[in-house]
Amino acid sequence: MSGIRTGLKRGIVWQNWGENQVFSPAQYAEPSNEAELLAVVRRAIAEGLSVRVAGTGHSSTPLVQTGGLLLSLKHLSGVTGTDVTRRRARALAGTPISAFGDALWEAGLALSNQGDIDKQTIAGAIATGTHGSGSGLASFSAAVRYVRLIDGNGDVVEIGEDDLDVLRAAQVSLGSLGVVIEVELEVSPKYHLRETITYPHVDELISGWDVNPDAHRHFSFLWCPTDGGAELFELPTPAGRPMADRAYTKVYDLAEIREPEGIDTTEGHRADRSYRIYPDGFGRIFNELEYFVPREQGLDAFREIRELIHRKYPNETYPVEVRWVAADDAYLSQQYKRDNTVITITVTAGTDYWGYLSDVDAVLQPYNARPHWGKLHFTTRARMEQMFPELDRFIGIRKQFDPGGLFLNDHLRPLLG
Ligand SMILES: Cc1cc2nc3c(=O)[nH]c(=O)nc-3n(C[C@H](O)[C@H](O)[C@H](O)COP(=O)(O)OP(=O)(O)OC[C@H]3O[C@@H](n4cnc5c(N)ncnc54)[C@H](O)[C@@H]3O)c2cc1C
Repeated sequence: MSGIRTGLKRGIVWQNWGENQVFSPAQYAEPSNEAELLAVVRRAIAEGLSVRVAGTGHSSTPLVQTGGLLLSLKHLSGVTGTDVTRRRARALAGTPISAFGDALWEAGLALSNQGDIDKQTIAGAIATGTHGSGSGLASFSAAVRYVRLIDGNGDVVEIGEDDLDVLRAAQVSLGSLGVVIEVELEVSPKYHLRETITYPHVDELISGWDVNPDAHRHFSFLWCPTDGGAELFELPTPAGRPMADRAYTKVYDLAEIREPEGIDTTEGHRADRSYRIYPDGFGRIFNELEYFVPREQGLDAFREIRELIHRKYPNETYPVEVRWVAADDAYLSQQYKRDNTVITITVTAGTDYWGYLSDVDAVLQPYNARPHWGKLHFTTRARMEQMFPELDRFIGIRKQFDPGGLFLNDHLRPLLG
């Protein structure tokens, strides 16, 4: 009965998008406003329950799992303010990335970059360092300028640019500092993009490796090891063109167009508002591993992965995605003080892909590869100590925010405890 009075539910089974993470929290709540959220978190603290928040469940790792209270902030959603002079936008934590498009455009603003989909919540995307592609463009986390959250004492805490040390911890925190209520992002004046899709052979990509990422605002590709790969991602490829060892290559450049006459929705040549160009649709579910290697070693790393797949995993037909992301200062960011090339390995959900992924891990680890926190990885505390020079600083701040480890779970405790 008490669960019903306070809006708490029991007996919930939570599952992520990739269907490889399933668990039942002791309690589940979808607070309808900030006051309810605060009450439910304070009550969990009083009962000694651990607390985790679910975004849209697009992470493949056990980040959301908890045996305590699971929260969904789907009712704490929406852009709450824009400032065109300071190029800022504020939004509640549960706001899906897709909801920023129209709201910011009306204010003359746009997100500076976006990833392959726009379904994730802004707090979920920030927590794991979600990014798009562009050698001059950083991740969502790098754009965070303010965070308001509930800490492990049940207090509402504001983190801003007046305390860069703590802000750098909050920019990529894996949800370990507390329950994020609202964030402020640095954004861009609104802009249009023109898309160009090509299908080069991998040899062409390799010969243009150093030039292409800097020649375009966004450059990325999906290399197809076999002919069947493109179909798995439902990539629109020219009829009859074999895709083996070719790549579906995406270029987005700034476009000066007038609306509505300049808008072009022709596949492969689209020109439109930035936020309408970025997101792709992915029909079927999959799981992923994604590692970030120093940009100057990206080609060597890609060559080794291609050789591994051709030699040992010729039937792993999902395309391999390659992107570029610019350096930032967040302590647990994959781009901490370094520009990266990003290699994404996609695998079929529900299959035993661990041998393949651990071979990929063995190939990429010597490159000091950092993991995408929302995708499968083999990271240990010992590796983190090598990969993240400010790990101790981060953990110190985490302990100040959450002395009782309320926001940790079995996945995070060994890494950040
Ligand atoms: C089809 C697909 C495409 C993708 N494309 C990209 C891409 O292009 N680029 C990229 O970098 N990644 C990509 N990802 C990964 C995805 O962006 C991340 O996993 C992201 O974290 C998912 O956001 P979410 O809202 O689903 O959060 P969840 O996966 O539900 O949660 C992620 C983390 O955020 C925490 N969290 C969420 N809300 C809060 C809050 N209010 N307070 C505290 N903690 C919170 C959760 O506890 C968890 O630790 C993709 C994933 C899929 C499945």
